[in-house]
Amino acid sequence: MKKIPQRTCVICQEKFDKRDLLRIVADKSGQIFYDPTGKANGRGAYICRSQACQEQFFNKNYLERTFKRKVEKEVVDQVRQQISNKMMKR
Ligand SMILES: [Zn+2]
Repeated sequence: MKKIPQRTCVICQEKFDKRDLLRIVADKSGQIFYDPTGKANGRGAYICRSQACQEQFFNKNYLERTFKRKVEKEVVDQVRQQISNKMMKR
């Protein structure tokens, strides 16, 4: 049986299968975006699908904390939008 890689949610610190987490990437050019494929190059942050974790992640701008750089609110909103668009299609 193939083992599914596990990652930790940056908010609740619980471990989940990688495919069940939302991956947000900061790439070398400084772009920050939601990565539905899980394969984009760059530094990744994982959050679980819990509403509470997502709220906290975006409301407290964990993007800055995770990627250790300034992240404008517009970028935060953009990533949040990318995720909610994706969720609606499921
Ligand atoms: Zn979580």
